[in-house]
Amino acid sequence: MHEITVGLGARSYPVLVGPGARHRLGEWVPGRARRAAVVTQAAVGWTVDPGIESKVFELDAGESAKNLGSIEVLCRAWATWDLSRADVVVAVGGGVVTDVAGFAAAVYHRGVAVIHVATTLLGQVDAAIGGKTGVNLPEGKNLVGAFWQPDAVLCDLETLATLPPREYRSGLGEMAKYAFLGVEDLEDLALEDAVTSCVANKAAVVGADERESGSRALLNYGHTLAHALETTGAYDLRHGEAVAIGLVYAAELARALGRIGDDRVAQHRRLVAGYDLPTTLPPGADLEALMQVMARDKKASAGLTFVLDGPGGLEVVGGVDPAVVASSLSHLASGDP
Ligand code: NAD
Repeated sequence: MHEITVGLGARSYPVLVGPGARHRLGEWVPGRARRAAVVTQAAVGWTVDPGIESKVFELDAGESAKNLGSIEVLCRAWATWDLSRADVVVAVGGGVVTDVAGFAAAVYHRGVAVIHVATTLLGQVDAAIGGKTGVNLPEGKNLVGAFWQPDAVLCDLETLATLPPREYRSGLGEMAKYAFLGVEDLEDLALEDAVTSCVANKAAVVGADERESGSRALLNYGHTLAHALETTGAYDLRHGEAVAIGLVYAAELARALGRIGDDRVAQHRRLVAGYDLPTTLPPGADLEALMQVMARDKKASAGLTFVLDGPGGLEVVGGVDPAVVASSLSHLASGDP
């Protein structure tokens, strides 16, 4: 079992990575807690034992469950069950569950403790760590949320055994970004080492910039186009699949801006394709609509803004020429290398 600390002073917490990590849950349930509200989804199918009285609260499946209505339903059910401020919420699931349960925990009684038991690869390498919680609005993804750090994150590799193959691949898409954030030879690592390295990378980034006033934005590598693909709602893409396309696009855009060469673009494509993930836009993608959503992206304080690779590694680049953004999109859609 690997244990990584997210270093945030008095709010520091451990991330456990390994088979059976969920069995360590009781160690982090606060001593004052009388009850644990376990939030999960039927499809997750993994149970946990918080060691105190507990009750399961189920969310609907899918990204559509990540809405404000779910927050009201959860908080009202917790209130009916008499969950107090001293108690604890345990989220058992993927990014949808940890985002929703985490946000509900952040606002219920103005904040109750939450522990994440991440059961998807995507959750383990990213969503469950770092305290970003929230829900979507029809106008965009993750538009309402809060920073609310968990007391612990348990990444139980055993739970991945029941994950549908497509969800597993989606996790690889989110994982792929860490190859450009400093995790070396990612594709050669065994799963436990790969997850641990990604967690350590994210923990360091979050520890240095909890509220995304600077370097944490680099974790959004590949996400500008990914979020646009997801926001339009027109494509059947899992989050990590959208990120995979976004990574290849970010590389092509960086090349078009003279920041990286063909070899580096090929490395992005190779990694993404090696994970059996898409390297091009879905057929018939509406490039104009994608351009419009990217211009509204929440990072876009200075015109079209992207995290881009370059000679000194990744950096946030604002004011990118819309003509280059558009021509790179057309190039991506063509499928040409
Ligand atoms: P998900 O939570 O929708 O889970 C995918 C599916 O797998 C669901 O149907 C779920 O019920 C099922 N499932 C989960 N664990 C399972 C298991 N062990 N066995 C069988 N089925 C299982 O998808 P996801 O990819 O984990 O998360 C995507 C979400 O995470 C998106 O909403 C994204 O915005 C969010 N996210 C958040 C952050 C963050 O920092 N907060 C970072 C990245 C992504």
